[in-house]
Amino acid sequence: MKLLLLAGTGEAVQVAGALHSKGIPAIASYAGTKRGSRDLKIPTRYGGFGGEAGFTQFLINEGITAVLDATHPFAAQMSHRSANVCTHLGLPYRQLLRPAWRPEAGDNWVRLRSEAEAAEHIPAGSTVFLATGRRTLRHYANLSESELICRQIYPPDGPFPFPNGRFLVGTPPFSVEDEIKLFHKLGIDWLVVKNAGGAASASKLEAARLADIKVAMIERPVQPEGQKAATVEEAMAWVECL
Ligand code: NAP
Repeated sequence: MKLLLLAGTGEAVQVAGALHSKGIPAIASYAGTKRGSRDLKIPTRYGGFGGEAGFTQFLINEGITAVLDATHPFAAQMSHRSANVCTHLGLPYRQLLRPAWRPEAGDNWVRLRSEAEAAEHIPAGSTVFLATGRRTLRHYANLSESELICRQIYPPDGPFPFPNGRFLVGTPPFSVEDEIKLFHKLGIDWLVVKNAGGAASASKLEAARLADIKVAMIERPVQPEGQKAATVEEAMAWVECL
């Protein structure tokens, strides 16, 4: 048995820790570089596989016998490809997918299929907090009549792509109280969020509820078919049955 753990989430860090402590043979994979990635305690490789062919070759060369996909709920390309290749090679595949957030009483959400749809709901003159990361900023070009604030963990390596926006550096975790204070200080009217789910980054949603701020919630991409593990415990139970 040799498991490939596709990493990129907090759950992947926890799974790697459990694999390590139980002595289960596994290799983890990060899309990015070693710098900025969390130490997983198990052998880890970095960077893309080089498409479907490279991924298939990697699984064969490394003698991988099962794949646990703990990538982010928005990393759909990697998940679809992994599911397909595993089916083709006859390897067990499971996706660890935390449940999506659902609106609660007091929430004021609109649901979006993409970042670009935000402009259909957010009126000109709004102050908008973009909690969706730097990589997708270009999709907000049509919010040109609003003030945009994009929070990032690391200092930006370039200027904001539009004149009506700026970056804000902040290191998680953020408490609900701190988020409320920040939203009031910045005069936020709208929050744009990807429906990542999970407790770690839910404080901004609770803050928006308590501070009566509207939320534009970007729905998740379609996931591969098949049974999912919703938690680290469920994922480990699957691994231990292999
Ligand atoms: P994606 O669109 O599904 O995948 C893009 C490419 O990144 C893949 O084709 C693959 O490159 C490479 N890749 C993705 N996950 C990999 C992994 N664990 N190990 C090695 N290569 C991987 O993914 P994405 O949205 O760009 O996200 C990239 C990574 O960041 C993912 O691992 C994800 O968990 C993490 N992440 C994503 C988000 C988000 O909002 N999308 C948020 C937090 C973390 P090749 O084709 O070259 O193999």
